[in-house]
Amino acid sequence: MSVNPRKGILSMPEYHPPLAGRNAMRLDFNENTFAPSPKVLEVLQSTTLEDLTIYPEREPRERIAAAHLGLAPEHVLLTNAVDEAIHLVTYTFLNEGDEVIFAVPSFFMYDVNCMAMGANVIRVQAEDTLAFPYERLLAAITPKTKLIILCTPNNPTGTTIPSAQIKTIAATAPHAVVLLDEAYFHFFGETMMPEIDTIPNLVIARTFSKAYGLANLRIGLLATNTGLMKHLRKAASPYNVNGIALRALEAAMEDTTYLDWYCAQVTTGRDKLATALKEMQIPFWPSHANFLLTRIGPKHKQLIAAMRTRGILLRDRSSDPGLQGCVRITIGVEEQLEKCIVALRESLSEINWTPADAKIVDTETEPAREYE
Ligand SMILES: *Cc1c(COP(=O)(O)O)cnc(C)c1O
Repeated sequence: MSVNPRKGILSMPEYHPPLAGRNAMRLDFNENTFAPSPKVLEVLQSTTLEDLTIYPEREPRERIAAAHLGLAPEHVLLTNAVDEAIHLVTYTFLNEGDEVIFAVPSFFMYDVNCMAMGANVIRVQAEDTLAFPYERLLAAITPKTKLIILCTPNNPTGTTIPSAQIKTIAATAPHAVVLLDEAYFHFFGETMMPEIDTIPNLVIARTFSKAYGLANLRIGLLATNTGLMKHLRKAASPYNVNGIALRALEAAMEDTTYLDWYCAQVTTGRDKLATALKEMQIPFWPSHANFLLTRIGPKHKQLIAAMRTRGILLRDRSSDPGLQGCVRITIGVEEQLEKCIVALRESLSEINWTPADAKIVDTETEPAREYE
């Protein structure tokens, strides 16, 4: 007799993020590519022995985070980054066989968590333009829909969902939780945060891994009304966020000057990279996040290898549904961006890439959906 896990775990593949050999310029994972606020470093350097020995107290920092977002403390749950937030939402609200809907291509942790819960996952393919498939997602809602996950701006496409569409989706599925992933909010500026009390099934996730530069400390949050929050709080470990991250969070949120500087670097850089890509005739999609998705064609692997030899990591998204031959480029600060553009020009020439390559459908990498 062997011991079996829940059915969902049996049927899902393992997730291995391609993290090996990342001691180069990291334009592959959409993290902050530079540094968190210097105030964060000060906090870390003043860590005492007691800070390490004591159990972390989440609640005081929850109050600060809530105030920062203009919310009441009971509306906010700090989490071990958005990965845990997604886990908590699926663990709290999904039973085996419940239907979950999300658009693809998108963030792979949605698949991982929903499949682990044994949910019936309905993936709605983006439009050919990679725009959010609004009509088809609405049509996919059934009485069995228990969770709808929306990501705006979406990773890896950079596309957004108009707030009117989010509202209609939530109103069409009042029996389902709508998890809105705003991981890239700071590079976009639009949010549904003021709606958490008026849309009864809305839960919003935010991370401190991207704009704030705290990916390694693992901190994020969920925001929702007290009715849904009551259930989520029960499911969360009382010590899910470590005390070092909690102290760093306070410093990071206070330093709005630094955050504004970093976000301006990214949004200015986004325009510059777009201009450079146009000059190189590389097709790309307009993005509201800290990355641009490009279509390279069958030479996508060669480009990534050529960039790696120049010390720059890019992300191959070719195995995502509908993204054959696509490569995602994270936007760093000015100096990094300039190096990236120079390296791109050299690499394209080295692999003899021409704009015609981007039009060739890459049949070799039929989407064998990687877990990344
Ligand atoms: C990076 C990312 C996250 C954040 O992950 P963390 O676990 O908070 O580091 C969440 N959602 C999307 C869409 C992302 O791209």
